[in-house]
Amino acid sequence: MSGMERAGGHSGAASLDPDDWDALRADAHRMLDDMIDYIADVRERPVWQPIPDAVRAGFSEQLPRNETPLGEVYRTFTDNIAPYATGNVHPGFMGWVHGGGTAVGMLAEMLAAGLNANCGGRNHIGIEVERQIVRWVRELFGFPQSASGLFVTGSSMANLMALLVARTAALGPQVREGGIKGEPLTAYASAAAHGCVVQAADLAGLGGGALRRIAFDSAHRIDIAALRRRIAEDRAAGFQPFLVTGSAGTVDVGAIDDLAALAAVCREEQLWFHVDGAYGSLGMLSDEIAPRLAGLSEADSVALDFHKWGQVNYDAGFLIVRDGEAHRQTFAAPAAYLRRETRGLAADSPWPCDFGPDLSRGFRALKTWFTLKTFGADRLGAMIARTCAVARHLEARVRREPKLEMLAPVALNIVCFRYRAASGDADALNAEIVADIHESGIAAPSSTTIDGKLAIRAAITNHRTAFEDVDRMVDAVLRFGEAREQR
Ligand SMILES: *Cc1c(COP(=O)(O)O)cnc(C)c1O
Repeated sequence: MSGMERAGGHSGAASLDPDDWDALRADAHRMLDDMIDYIADVRERPVWQPIPDAVRAGFSEQLPRNETPLGEVYRTFTDNIAPYATGNVHPGFMGWVHGGGTAVGMLAEMLAAGLNANCGGRNHIGIEVERQIVRWVRELFGFPQSASGLFVTGSSMANLMALLVARTAALGPQVREGGIKGEPLTAYASAAAHGCVVQAADLAGLGGGALRRIAFDSAHRIDIAALRRRIAEDRAAGFQPFLVTGSAGTVDVGAIDDLAALAAVCREEQLWFHVDGAYGSLGMLSDEIAPRLAGLSEADSVALDFHKWGQVNYDAGFLIVRDGEAHRQTFAAPAAYLRRETRGLAADSPWPCDFGPDLSRGFRALKTWFTLKTFGADRLGAMIARTCAVARHLEARVRREPKLEMLAPVALNIVCFRYRAASGDADALNAEIVADIHESGIAAPSSTTIDGKLAIRAAITNHRTAFEDVDRMVDAVLRFGEAREQR
């Protein structure tokens, strides 16, 4: 059977466009209305629910050889996909560091998909919108005009790319051809830095051990004296320090390293100063938080995620590099099929593909542009400050409850606490409480380990999370804790 016959008598069997645009339009409007309801009515649903076995099994079917009407595929989405999502749209979601997204961002994603722009390069408006975001980030962070930036999946990728730029700056562009020839490069970050900072050294071929994990103080900030000592020791032992990564909002507790002190160390020692600002750096939008990020504007590069505190729908990671030329020299590669011209669609070099490993890239800038334009920087800053106020409300509540204890200071929007076990294994008890809360659908905190103790960790990153949502979470912790202790 030929492909044409299999397509079942469509007018334009080769094209994937519908025969009946009106029918598609009706389906589309229903989907849009449903998704607006999904967001508007999010509080009426559980934060999360486990995927029933039958639903999971439904995703083990064979490759569909034949057509299925769109409405039927959509029904599978409404029945078997939408109810079992992560839950981070819900105000009760407080796990890990997840943004809540917005309806505006959702609409922008639809528009971007309609344009289906490939933002790897070429002379089209998608590239200019991305450059607008680069200009805004420069302005927000106090970076010079010569700074470059681009969208990436997330800060894991941005931290890896920053390390590669720092490596190329340290060893010269010939490292791209010859590779690292035994130069004993070492990099430095707090032991509280995100795991992807260590992984970046591993992926770049330096080895995870080349990333020296420096002790942190009682406020979970990198110990600057210990950092200086380790750099001196490494130099004395013949190593070649090249990079220090500061954290603007650690993943565990939201601590901000003393970025100004790190900038000074890097200046004196002539090291690349990178900041993992995955979620915290957008605190620059808030007058209340920005002063605590002093020193960020001196960084050589910053990794950040618009999809966390910025509430841009996933994914929207970003890297900004002070020395745009060093950035370009790390990734740009000549290729005949990517030849640049001075006019036409192949003009307007350099292109985003000259600043990172991705060639084909979606239009992440559009949802970010819509979010920043629609809400404005001030409202986003106020929203960010508000998540910190919600965290302080949660902290005050925990301190009032005799059955609960705080495990770390609250620097920004993250609260680490736990249920005091009357007897037995407190770690196991608190892990069970977290899972009980997940399964109840009431809230979704996560857990981490602080000073060897398992903590219930609530990161208020969702703009929808209000005082009553964290109170409901605490009520649930107390209820499940008591129920487990009575067993
Ligand atoms: C989330 C996070 C990362 C990783 O970013 P992704 O966008 O998940 O890749 C790195 N560092 C910190 C501090 C984070 O919060």
